[in-house]
Amino acid sequence: MSSDDATDVGDLMQHWSMTADRFLTHAARWHGRRDVVTREVDGSISRSNFAAIERRARLLSAALLAHGVRRGDRVATLAMNTARHVEAWFGIIGIGAVCHTLNPRLFEEQLAYIANHARDRWLLADPQFAPLVAKLRAQVPSLERVVYLCGPEARPSGDPDYETLIAGHGTEVRWGDFDEHLPAALCYTSGTTGHPKGVLYSHRSQVLHTLMGLSAEVFALTAADTALLAVPMFHANAWGLPFAVAAAGARTVLPGPKLDPASLYELLESERVTFSGAVPTVWQLMIEYLRANRLRLTTLKRVLIGGSACPEALMRALADEQGVEVVHAWGMTELSPIGTISWRPTPEVAAQGPEVRLAYNLKQGRVPFGVDMKITDDEGRRLAEDGVRSGHLKVAGPAVLRRYFGESADALDAEGYFDTGDIGTIDAEGYLQITDRAKDVIKSGGEWISSVEIENLAAGHPKALMAAVIAVPHPKWRERPLLVVKLKPGVEATAEEFLGFLEGKIAGWWMPDAVVFVAEMPLGATGKLDKKRLRVQFPAFPGA
Ligand code: AMP
Repeated sequence: MSSDDATDVGDLMQHWSMTADRFLTHAARWHGRRDVVTREVDGSISRSNFAAIERRARLLSAALLAHGVRRGDRVATLAMNTARHVEAWFGIIGIGAVCHTLNPRLFEEQLAYIANHARDRWLLADPQFAPLVAKLRAQVPSLERVVYLCGPEARPSGDPDYETLIAGHGTEVRWGDFDEHLPAALCYTSGTTGHPKGVLYSHRSQVLHTLMGLSAEVFALTAADTALLAVPMFHANAWGLPFAVAAAGARTVLPGPKLDPASLYELLESERVTFSGAVPTVWQLMIEYLRANRLRLTTLKRVLIGGSACPEALMRALADEQGVEVVHAWGMTELSPIGTISWRPTPEVAAQGPEVRLAYNLKQGRVPFGVDMKITDDEGRRLAEDGVRSGHLKVAGPAVLRRYFGESADALDAEGYFDTGDIGTIDAEGYLQITDRAKDVIKSGGEWISSVEIENLAAGHPKALMAAVIAVPHPKWRERPLLVVKLKPGVEATAEEFLGFLEGKIAGWWMPDAVVFVAEMPLGATGKLDKKRLRVQFPAFPGA
């Protein structure tokens, strides 16, 4: 049979290697004039666009190659969301090196562990992290070079600055053109138990993940949007948003180090932002700020909330007071991170009216194409998806981790699913509801109590700013729930007020045994409640 025979079989389509640099090349060519706005470390606003970002990213690639950086080498970043960080990201991955985003909120020892484990060769850091960099450098022998993401005038030490590094290089650098299975990015999980673990994303997984995220049921970004990336790039690659905005050609706003509500509000309004994403805490503080100052969000249409469950009170406040829809997402670093989305309801859910719709929106949602999930019992047997039975949540897909970086065994079950460590239910409509982290679950008399459900309800008390529920050892029931509350500024409350508020909303045996009020809630490096620290703080019931 001749090769041009119409009946020839085989892959006759182009072998277009799916490398993630293509997102920026696309943005530069087809959305080149679209703004990329940055709040710089010094507070000033600077404006770039996708064409300039691509050109400068190529200069960085040329500089890295000239200094001997090769495919597979780890180039770390220790930086907030700025245009230079985005340039660095693409400049690194375009030549096949691996962009390792370090989280500056981690403790120094954790960072040193992570950088050593990753064997980072280069570090590109924001100048304000110079003291931390100095300490890391002494502990990370693989680190050959530090470059500060600034111009020569802001250089905090004798190390080179980014602008000087990229000056004098050309843009004729070949990007991509390698196997899509090569690694692009490395991100370590928060490490709630044991050492942090590395998730090494491939170009292919990043491209497929971005395509999933672009769907009308996920980010739904278009060139008519302005997206403010409040979730940091070191938190699961800012949930893939830097790739998604480039692919969609959306105007992009990068808030730098200022993530307080006043600074974010100013940018949301002055840049006429339509879409944003961050963990619930950021939006909770925002709502408080808007209320206290009687302000309105005039352009924001929807916010992506994930990282922890979106409390009902927050979802209602955003919708009723500000007209902002919540795209509620569940995910994790190991999933790139999209797992499920709850936003646009299925027709069956929509038909049941606004309150039912809200109830589903509060669940973690349905999988997009590219993710599959199941719940199992302790022995790994699949459980009925009836919205009642809860079990270990396991997922599969082309953007889901197979094996942690540097480990020798796959982290999958016999069916090829990854155990998320989350506990949840799946209902008849296909909606996932997370009821707990496996390690946070409260086991009272052999039955599970959902800490998440109680804390979401308690967070809805008008005097509460934040609420957490943890298991405390109990002589009879083994464990019982303790409710920890951070009140709004200037208000006082009693335990009875909170218990009364929960009365009738949860089963009697779920009722916390005690309520304690704290001045500060311990937050982890990605802005989530750190229950590990709370458990250390409250090893027993107060007065016990
Ligand atoms: P990370 O890898 O740091 O993003 O953490 C992932 C974990 O955060 C998940 O395994 C969940 O326990 C939790 N998480 C993320 N999104 C949600 C959500 N929408 N609701 C409840 N928990 C969430």
